[in-house]
Amino acid sequence: MTQARATTDDTLDHPRIVILGGGVAGLAAAIALARRGLPATVVERDPAPPDDRDPFMEWRRRGVPQFRLPHGFSARTRNLLAEHAPDVLDRLRAGGIEVINLFKRLIPEELWRPSDDDFANLWARRAAFELALRRTAEAEAGVTFECPAVATGLSFLRTPGEPPRVTGVRLAGGGELPADVVLDCGGQRTPMPRWLAAEGVRVGADVQDCQTVYFSRYYRFTPGCDLPKTAVATLRGEADGISYIGFPGDNDTFAICFEGPPADEDLRLLRNTWAFEAAACAIPDVAPWVDPSNGVPLDGVQIMGGHHNVRRRYVEDGEPAVLGLLPVGDSLCTTNPAYGWGAAMALTYAFTAAACIGRHGGDPAAMAVAYEDAVGREADAVYRESAAMDRARIYRITGQDVPEHDRAEMERQRLIAEGVASGVLLDVELGRAFNRRVNLVGPADAVLGDSELAVRARERRKDFEADGTPTATAPGLRKVIRAARPGATV
Ligand SMILES: Cc1cc2nc3c(=O)[nH]c(=O)nc-3n(C[C@H](O)[C@H](O)[C@H](O)COP(=O)(O)OP(=O)(O)OC[C@H]3O[C@@H](n4cnc5c(N)ncnc54)[C@H](O)[C@@H]3O)c2cc1C
Repeated sequence: MTQARATTDDTLDHPRIVILGGGVAGLAAAIALARRGLPATVVERDPAPPDDRDPFMEWRRRGVPQFRLPHGFSARTRNLLAEHAPDVLDRLRAGGIEVINLFKRLIPEELWRPSDDDFANLWARRAAFELALRRTAEAEAGVTFECPAVATGLSFLRTPGEPPRVTGVRLAGGGELPADVVLDCGGQRTPMPRWLAAEGVRVGADVQDCQTVYFSRYYRFTPGCDLPKTAVATLRGEADGISYIGFPGDNDTFAICFEGPPADEDLRLLRNTWAFEAAACAIPDVAPWVDPSNGVPLDGVQIMGGHHNVRRRYVEDGEPAVLGLLPVGDSLCTTNPAYGWGAAMALTYAFTAAACIGRHGGDPAAMAVAYEDAVGREADAVYRESAAMDRARIYRITGQDVPEHDRAEMERQRLIAEGVASGVLLDVELGRAFNRRVNLVGPADAVLGDSELAVRARERRKDFEADGTPTATAPGLRKVIRAARPGATV
């Protein structure tokens, strides 16, 4: 393991780098930095993964509340790893994680194009994905782990007329790691804005509540399961106002997830196993997957709410708020988890941050500006798209009138949902456009950029409207959930 260096001269070409947080962004950044010859220390509050034990059940990851909630790893995630850290993909495959191109599986072979290869996803639970990153980072000579260790604040050098400059990361128990560059990879609940506010540094942020709660449960396919297992990836719908979605996992696992607004009292009952299973069994699409002859639960119901879309601004009008600090991953921008963009963006920011440090490590202002120039536009785009999709859903389920200022954007979102998404299995070009968007293969906001495609989407939308409202799935679902309560009388 390489120790951080201390001399001032070294900091110009070889900055001392501390990474706060060893989740997706922190681990990817550590790997990328090490491969550029830049040693880094990762400070992670949770213990290291256990050897030879199931990481899903046994890795204590209190710092990542979504650890056992379902994740789908987009094609962009896979493509970035293939480009920057192909050995992580090898590790994933060796651990039983499949790379699946569902788009190519669903269309006839004669329609395949070489660019369709960009749509391959990783089917893995979060634990398996993160473990592959962690083991790869651990194998790098340039990566040191301080783990478990809680970072409690930063130290700064103050020079009049300049933003404060980071000089170190303080640790619980009194130690401090000297640093020329700190990567904030502390995730969606990063303490960084709070620490900076205490120093009088204001970090601008756009924030919008996602208004959603997840209730999910993982299962393992039984050896006798005769369902077409890959079909779990296409399982999605809405029953009695509650959304459901299937997630394929690694090693014969899959998850069922319900999602809806936090104020929905029936939905909240799903935290109980009796309610969750009753709901799953009452939805015709979902029932076969949770039938004990096909799927056996791996754990209890996992719940997570409090999701927000957040875009933080550490550089405004070309001026960094603080020197020597780069926000990477969810700490820079968090989007609604339901859209599955978080891991891909975390890798994007991490690999870009490593490149910027490699180029500008000795000049913290140039480094901050180069990083924001490289990632800021896309962070803005994913934030805007995620927030707009959330508003479209919120207006719909609350029956709220769309305010004047939001009408054009809501119209655009409707065209994406009813003109593009609804045509995925009917028109191969709409299928490609939809896959580019959900997989972030290309900019998130470019889905209707091509005028020919916009025409096709409008045509498809007319058919969608002509089809009328589909028959409700499991219309009495809420009643079933309430009646499932032990001892309930209906
Ligand atoms: C319910 C849910 C479902 C999701 N599903 C998907 C999905 O399907 N697809 C997808 O791509 N993304 C999904 N995401 C998003 C994805 O989980 C995140 O985008 C991704 O983990 C971001 O990586 P990160 O490194 O920024 O943060 P994290 O992976 O959360 O890592 C943050 C790390 O910082 C550590 N830390 C924090 N504070 C300190 C401190 N003071 N000292 C030391 N360590 C600290 C934590 O312990 C943690 O290890 C989902 C998120 C949620 C909440």
